[in-house]
Amino acid sequence: MRSSSARGVGYRVAGSTVTVVDRACGACPPCQAGRSYWCSRPREAGPELVTVDGAGQRPVAAWLTGLSAVRAAGLPPHSTVLVLSTADPTPVRELVGLVHPGPVLAIADARDPGIRETLAATTDNGRAPAVLALAAARSAVRAVDRGGVVCLPDAEVDPPSVTEVVQRELTVVGPRDLTRLVATSGSAALADALHRTVGSDGTR
Ligand SMILES: [Zn+2]
Repeated sequence: MRSSSARGVGYRVAGSTVTVVDRACGACPPCQAGRSYWCSRPREAGPELVTVDGAGQRPVAAWLTGLSAVRAAGLPPHSTVLVLSTADPTPVRELVGLVHPGPVLAIADARDPGIRETLAATTDNGRAPAVLALAAARSAVRAVDRGGVVCLPDAEVDPPSVTEVVQRELTVVGPRDLTRLVATSGSAALADALHRTVGSDGTR
């Protein structure tokens, strides 16, 4: 995670428990624009948003900000979201299902034949209209449909080139507001799904 101190959220780590804290001031221009994750005057402390057991700060931050990006994308409710991650697909589907009611597919590699078959059956042209990439942003750009949406966490990702994004008419969306994400998903449900998702990822 790049300097979490420059964000509207903070992370308190105690052993293998991560507590996410809302540090947004609520008054600066990003906060006023509904982008409190990018608060320019974060407070030292604030209310706790969610506490996740058995997980490190980096994966918790990556998943939370990735989920915030999916929420911020305002996708049509029935569109398919492809999640590129090395975590177990079952908890990933539950986790992303907290912010998106439509179909969620999860796979480490978008070239997987099984996923290609599923996409061919569930989309018009075999490509996902939206992709969330936990690490491999360039793979997401290749996997998403033309004119589609690539959701990225605030984490170390290999950024897609401007040319790739422009040529394929993509929209790239990042995190916006973790407070609203937690409020609408439910802190307990979010903590549980994050715990199982992160815990299932052997490569984290
Ligand atoms: Zn602020």
